[in-house]
Amino acid sequence: MSADRQGDSMTGAAPRVMVVEDEPSQREVLTYNLEAEGFDVCSAETGDEALLRVDEEAPDIILLDWMLPGVSGIEVCRRLKMRAETRATPIIMLSARSEEVDKVRGLETGADDYIVKPYSVIELMARVRAQLRRSRPASVGQRLEFADFVLDSETHRVTRGDKPLKLGPTEFRLLSTFMEKPGRVWSREQLLDRVWGRDIYVDTRTVDVHIGRLRKALCQHGGDDPLRTVRGAGYALG
Ligand code: CA
Repeated sequence: MSADRQGDSMTGAAPRVMVVEDEPSQREVLTYNLEAEGFDVCSAETGDEALLRVDEEAPDIILLDWMLPGVSGIEVCRRLKMRAETRATPIIMLSARSEEVDKVRGLETGADDYIVKPYSVIELMARVRAQLRRSRPASVGQRLEFADFVLDSETHRVTRGDKPLKLGPTEFRLLSTFMEKPGRVWSREQLLDRVWGRDIYVDTRTVDVHIGRLRKALCQHGGDDPLRTVRGAGYALG
């Protein structure tokens, strides 16, 4: 079985967006538009649900409605920004309130951006991409560099010291995941989720196979193996 997905417009599994919105029609419109842009969307109807599911879903970005029943959006934002696991996840607050004071309050709680309803879909997508350029650069076509490696996620070209490297599509997605966060240790499960996507069943041993291929590919013109095996934890670049 080949788990390589052909024709992906994005590098790696598509960035995952969590939509936290209690209004069903708004949730549907957001989900529809984000999916049309190629994002992987999960949603929560309340702040409590968002807080419960954020670890399991591990979204790359969160669109968070301010006015939610129970725990408010602003409180959800505050709590997520206090936790080490979710601190770096960009949060865009959505609000019907437009007063400047609210905007300031939203940003003070740690929100990365703030959009007032009704918003234009084009503007919202631009803001989402702007946040992802910081947090998931390869997923939005940025060029990544690490040591003598350069990965261009727009043209899908990888070079080492100016020599082009031949990589399979899965190895390319693995490398872009590593190059987005050099030094970070990824577990096999996290790599499966990000590189293969959560809806595809692949054994964790498959990860080891592709890591082996990636290592070979990275050293095809010589040079040191930049990938590190971290016993009992997973793999890291550098
Ligand atoms: Ca609401």
